[in-house]
Amino acid sequence: MRAELVSVGTELLLGEITDTNATYISQQLADIGVDVYFRHTVGDNLGRIVQVLQGAMRRCDVIIICGGLGPTQDDLTREAVAEVTGRPLQRVPAAEQRVREFFAQRRRVPSESNLKQCMVPKGGRLLDNNCGTAPGLLVEHNDTVLIAVPGPPPEMRTMLDSDVLPYLRDHVAAAEGGVLFTRTLRLSDIGESTVADELADIISQQTDPTIALYASPAEVRIRLATKATDEAAAYQRLSKVEEQIRARLGSHIYGVDDETMPVAVGNALREAGKTLAIAESCTGGLIASRITDIPGASDYFLAGYVVYSNAAKTRLLGVSEEVIAQYGAVSEECAKAMAEGARRDSGADYALATTGIAGPTGGTPEKPVGTIFIAVADDKGTICEHFCWPGEREQFKARVAQMALNVLRKRIVGE
Ligand code: AMP
Ligand code: MG
Repeated sequence: MRAELVSVGTELLLGEITDTNATYISQQLADIGVDVYFRHTVGDNLGRIVQVLQGAMRRCDVIIICGGLGPTQDDLTREAVAEVTGRPLQRVPAAEQRVREFFAQRRRVPSESNLKQCMVPKGGRLLDNNCGTAPGLLVEHNDTVLIAVPGPPPEMRTMLDSDVLPYLRDHVAAAEGGVLFTRTLRLSDIGESTVADELADIISQQTDPTIALYASPAEVRIRLATKATDEAAAYQRLSKVEEQIRARLGSHIYGVDDETMPVAVGNALREAGKTLAIAESCTGGLIASRITDIPGASDYFLAGYVVYSNAAKTRLLGVSEEVIAQYGAVSEECAKAMAEGARRDSGADYALATTGIAGPTGGTPEKPVGTIFIAVADDKGTICEHFCWPGEREQFKARVAQMALNVLRKRIVGE
């Protein structure tokens, strides 16, 4: 099944916002075996949206449009879908009722333009929006399905997950006699090329399931995918290859599917019944942010300290001035003292600390840009690991956050 994505919004073309929706939709479609052939970005202009949709309708089976469903003058997706399909817009009374209730709960009255959102091209249907007012659209027209979802990312994601993906899964199953089942193995402490070398024979012999490698900062993912009508048969095929891979690389596999590093750390802490504090210098709070991305993090996460200056390290975490003077703020001694200070101050079972040189300036021959010390303090003592990974600042921070969480995870599970 071939799909094209159309992101609608002049702000996207101006570079004011990043098209994170297209990334998310692409990922989700790949997961269910829908091939995305083209992605388009078009401004809030009826003629140009229509032009893009007409082209896509000639080429593909599914078009997913995001954005431009709101109530304002420049929200034109609904009109564009009506025009390219030649289906006039009709009001849906049940949807109108929902919009009126949404506004009533907020002690407001919907305007005419809010009610415009209750219109659907004839023969199509509206998709409920559980996080906002703009419903989505789904129109099956000749051989093409046109689906429109709202622009705000939380609304888009909720609608995609609850309505659009289940619909497409069924659609793919009916058209292709099977749907895609996948399993993603997540690896740490290993590079993509080493994984490729270790698995070279398996990868070259394998056609079903297919095996694909993906690398992101401090992580390699192996994605296994197979098409099947029967879930049990699919999982049996996936498990067989997974076992082969685990026999070679099992010690590097820390998580499966959605079990990202912060999730794995959270699970390990919860299982052990332990708590965490984090002291960050060069990562500026990113690790605490990653930890708190996970629902339920309050079960184990007690406190985060962003201690950028030497004075803050001393005042908040009790890192002695002598340690900083003798070894420097970027040192094993300082990282360990930060972790111990955070553990003492917060009362957490584990404390993780990072200190390093993100660059682009500030490096020395002994401590070049990219130098990073990661310490973990717990009731058994304090350990520190030292790496050097020069890179652009944002990338450096992302990599350090991932590596630090992995150092912590290994300490908790006793690897
Ligand atoms: P719209 O539904 O087009 O009015 O979009 C409403 C808001 O959703 C925009 O102002 C953006 O903040 C956000 N948004 C729209 N399209 C995207 C996109 N493709 N990726 C990320 N955010 C988006
Ligand atoms: Mg818009």
